[in-house]
Amino acid sequence: MLNSLISRRRLIATGTLASAGAALSKLAFGAAPADAKPTLGTVPAYLGSSPQTLPPLPYAENALEPVISARTIGFHYGKHHRAYFDNLHKLLAGTPLAQASLEQLIMQTHDQPNLSDVFNNAAQAWNHNFYWNSLSPVATQPSEKLQAAIVRKFGSVEALTKALVATSASQFGSGWGWLVVDQGELAVVKTSNAETPFTRGLAPLLTVDVWEHAYYLDYQNRRPDYLVATVSQHLNWAFASANLDRI
Ligand code: MN
Repeated sequence: MLNSLISRRRLIATGTLASAGAALSKLAFGAAPADAKPTLGTVPAYLGSSPQTLPPLPYAENALEPVISARTIGFHYGKHHRAYFDNLHKLLAGTPLAQASLEQLIMQTHDQPNLSDVFNNAAQAWNHNFYWNSLSPVATQPSEKLQAAIVRKFGSVEALTKALVATSASQFGSGWGWLVVDQGELAVVKTSNAETPFTRGLAPLLTVDVWEHAYYLDYQNRRPDYLVATVSQHLNWAFASANLDRI
């Protein structure tokens, strides 16, 4: 039976998961034979395949001080980011999607209101993976290719960083600011809550987190101060350059 592949016990034990579990069963198998592999959303070729496992922080928790404190990163990485993975494990244990990549989960669930719990936790897990790598303790430079694209679209790196700060600061409520490639051109965009640009065909190069948990311990309500300091001192242009090369 198709449903035997979903953990009935878990769905019954966690009532809020019942509808999501039924929806997962349906979307994973559709009308396919019981022994078919789950059909997952198409993941853009430039994206990797991220496991449902919290990756190590790419630097020490105090490496971005004084711009972002070790205390902030301790909570942000150790509590918030970890919780998104823990939530995913609870949601997907015993289902065919327990081994899916974050990218597959995001592409499969982003337009499925009854799977918003899965989407939100998968996308937040992925966005935070990307955020830690978007920051660097040491100064970095754009590649020649990225530099040329920046100059072509924004005029200068300084103008781009101003646009990124302004757009990110203007996000109403929780969300993210992004440098993306949109149909071959660089662009600065913002997304709400867990939304991530690649579900709408935009390839991310860099992100900054503007959820309050990213800055409130250090900056309280002064989101623009967090953004100016972070964007001017800690953006990882090498990471952005590598992402551009993969597109
Ligand atoms: Mn965050």
